[in-house]
Amino acid sequence: MIPYGKQSITQDDINAVIDVLQSDFLTQGPQVPAFEQSIVAATGANFALAVNSATSALHIACLALGLGPGDSLWTTPITFVASANCGLYCGASIDFVDINPTTYNLCPVVLKAKLKKAEQQGTLPKVVVVVHLCGQPCDMEAIHVLSIEYGFKVIEDASHAIGGRYDGQPIGACKYSDITVFSFHPVKIVTTAEGGAALTNDQELADKMRLYRSHGITRDESFMKNISHGPWYYEQIDLGFNYRMTELQAALGISQMKRLSKFVVARHQLAKRYNEKLADLPITLPYQLPHTYSGLHLYVIRLHLDKITKSYQQVFNELREAAIGVNVHYIPIHLQPYYQKMGFLKGDYPEAERYYSEAISIPMFHSMTLDQQDNVIAALTTILAG
Ligand SMILES: *Cc1c(COP(=O)(O)O)cnc(C)c1O
Repeated sequence: MIPYGKQSITQDDINAVIDVLQSDFLTQGPQVPAFEQSIVAATGANFALAVNSATSALHIACLALGLGPGDSLWTTPITFVASANCGLYCGASIDFVDINPTTYNLCPVVLKAKLKKAEQQGTLPKVVVVVHLCGQPCDMEAIHVLSIEYGFKVIEDASHAIGGRYDGQPIGACKYSDITVFSFHPVKIVTTAEGGAALTNDQELADKMRLYRSHGITRDESFMKNISHGPWYYEQIDLGFNYRMTELQAALGISQMKRLSKFVVARHQLAKRYNEKLADLPITLPYQLPHTYSGLHLYVIRLHLDKITKSYQQVFNELREAAIGVNVHYIPIHLQPYYQKMGFLKGDYPEAERYYSEAISIPMFHSMTLDQQDNVIAALTTILAG
């Protein structure tokens, strides 16, 4: 089976992890800060906080922005459930903004209309989580303008987008957002096995996220309520979690980050080849927003079912039977039973639901060989012709 996404691990990566195993620190040593510095260097953000997953990063990002009961968080229905669940962790309510049918990202035009209505009803969101789906950046400038007009905070869920650029700036620079989050799960662009990071340019947000990452405990006297009792002294000044990344993970991350631009270039070469070789099939190929460079985590095609004799399920199953590890990103969150219980209905977000009825992620990972890609192209061509 050719997977839809896969990590690539070199001997250097392995050596980096072994070195840590033989060192004094398996956690809370020098590797995590060094990994954070490599993320800062790659993105231009002022601060990067490494944590044990993007889900944790989203949670501490929401907490740092003050999201709580009575507040609301808006996001796109076409994302992994974690982009919305982070709001629920904080006791906030969730609402969704339908996607743009061309970019598949949260649509700024729909957002604007929804904000206008919410303003009249007194239900404006505190936080909007935008997701750079497949690595393609959202229209951040438009979203930023709305955030100022309507007074909400912006989190970029850039789990798919490390190594990409928006308007010449690396994703993670946080020029148009308060916080950006990365995931280092093995299917993503850079991996630490499990892992994530929260980036910001704001010292206060960084300080808060650092606290939430580790039990709400500080060893920094400038944050303490009391005079220090001595060198052993620490204070818990808020309620936090253990969301720390280990030294093993950070060492792997440092080693992987050295190859970030190589990874993304390889993905672009594969995408270009797909674009050329799939151009005549009855499918919509990924659209690229001008002035952006995608991280290309995923390559999503949409089936023109009116021009194909098979159903969506048939095409999907036949690809899997041909050992092509296709997948779907994503089932619209509002259709998940847990969200349906909150009152979301089928039909609420028609563009998201139309996307879901046609979209298939075909294999895309930086170590994919041209032979593997040719297999995918041949299988797709045969199956769609049949
Ligand atoms: C993978 C992913 C997450 C969650 O990442 P973890 O590191 O597995 O917690 C969140 N949002 C999006 C868009 C993702 O793709």
